[in-house]
Amino acid sequence: MTLLEIRAAWELVAAACPPPSAAETVGLDSALGRVAAEDALSAVDLPPFDRSAMDGYAVRAADTDPPSALAIVGELAAGEVASSVLAPGSALGITTGAALPEGADAVLRIEDARVDRGFVTPAGPIAVGTAVRYRGEDVARGAVLAAAGAVLGVHHVTALASAGVGSVRVHRRPVMHVLATGTELLELGAPPEPGRIHESNRLTLRLLAERAGAEVVLHPVVPDDAAATAAAVEAALGGDVLAVSGGVSVGPHDHVKPALQELGVEEVFWRVRLKPGKPLWFGRRGATLVFGLPGNPLSTVACFLLFVGPALRRLQGEAGAEPPYVPARLAVPARPADGRTTLLTSRLVHGSDGVLEATPTEGQGSHLTGALAASDGFVAIPHAAGELAAGAAVQALLL
Ligand code: AMP
Ligand code: MG
Repeated sequence: MTLLEIRAAWELVAAACPPPSAAETVGLDSALGRVAAEDALSAVDLPPFDRSAMDGYAVRAADTDPPSALAIVGELAAGEVASSVLAPGSALGITTGAALPEGADAVLRIEDARVDRGFVTPAGPIAVGTAVRYRGEDVARGAVLAAAGAVLGVHHVTALASAGVGSVRVHRRPVMHVLATGTELLELGAPPEPGRIHESNRLTLRLLAERAGAEVVLHPVVPDDAAATAAAVEAALGGDVLAVSGGVSVGPHDHVKPALQELGVEEVFWRVRLKPGKPLWFGRRGATLVFGLPGNPLSTVACFLLFVGPALRRLQGEAGAEPPYVPARLAVPARPADGRTTLLTSRLVHGSDGVLEATPTEGQGSHLTGALAASDGFVAIPHAAGELAAGAAVQALLL
C-alpha cells in the first residue's frame, strides 16, 4: 500500500481550508492571540505632544549659551499644560512626561542645573531638543501597528494600547466540534471498571484547539454502534471543523467512516505515512473540515500538531500557517519505524549553543501516555532516513 506523505497530506488539508470569513470587533483586552482582520492603526501621534524626557527645567536653548541664571517661573507636572509661553531668560520646572511649554525648545536636566534663590544656572550650554521627545517621533497617527493577518501578541497589544486604540477587528474564531467514539471509554476521573479505559482525547483536543484559537464544542462519548455513531456525527457536523476520535481503522467496531460517508462527508484522504497516526482520515462537507483521528492518545496529539492545529490557524486568518516544526538535533542515534515517518516522544532541552537537543524516551508507542508525560514534544525521523546519528539535524514539534 502506498501511503500519503505527511507533506502531501498537509497540502490537501491546507487546500481544503476556506478563507477566513466574518470579522468581529473585540476589546483590546481580549485580543491576545487573535488574528487581525485588517491593519490596526495608531489613533494618535506618539508621543501625542512634545514632552520632557527628564526631570529638570524647560528652557530656551539659546539662553544656555553662554550659561546664565534663568528665573524659575513655576513648575509643571506630567498631565498639566503650561498656561503661558516661556519668556526668554526664564525656566519652568518640568517632570518627566510633561508637555513642553510653548517657547521652550530643550530640557535642562536636574543633574546639570544649579538652583539658587529662585534662579537656575545650567552647568553648560545645551542643544535645541535636549531631553525632548517630539510629537510623532515614535509613531505617526494612522501608522500600521499590526498588519492584517498578524497574530496579535503582547507587543502589538502594548503598542495599540499606547496608541489610543481600544478595540480591533479580528477574524472570527473557528468552531471545532469534538466527538469521541469507543464503548470502552470512561469519563474523566470515573472509578475504574473492568475492561474499560479512561477517555482523554476530548480533553486533549479541547486544550490544543483552544490554544490554537478555536472555540470548542464537546460532545458526549459515543459507543461503538453504527446508528449511534451516525447520529452523533450528524449532530456534530455544524461547525468549521469536526474532530472525531477513534473508530477510523478497519475493525468490526469502527463505524466512523461509514457514518461520514452516509452523511455526505467527502473523503479527501485516509492513511498517512506517519507513526503514530497512520489511520488519519480527512474529508469535508461544504465548508466543514472533518478529521477522523486514530484513538490512541499519542496519535491524536501527533495528528493535531501536524494537521488540525495549523488548519485551525488558517481558518482564523493566519496567513500561511504551517505545522509548527522547530529545528533540533538528536542527542542519541534514532531510526524510523516500519517505513513511516516516525514521531518520537522526546525530551527537548537547549544545548549550550542554544539548539534544542532531543533525547527520545525509552518507550515509544502510540498508547504510551507515560512516555508523553516524560517528554517535551516529538522529533520527526523521516521514513527514508535509515538510522540517524547522534548530532543529526531533525525537526521537532513542541507541546
Ligand atoms: P481506535 O482508533 O478506536 O481503534 O482506538 C485505538 C486505541 O485508542 C484503543 O486502545 C482505544 O481504547 C484507545 N482510545 C480510543 N479513543 C480514546 C480516547 N478518546 N481516549 C483515550 N484512548 C482512546
Ligand atoms: Mg475504538
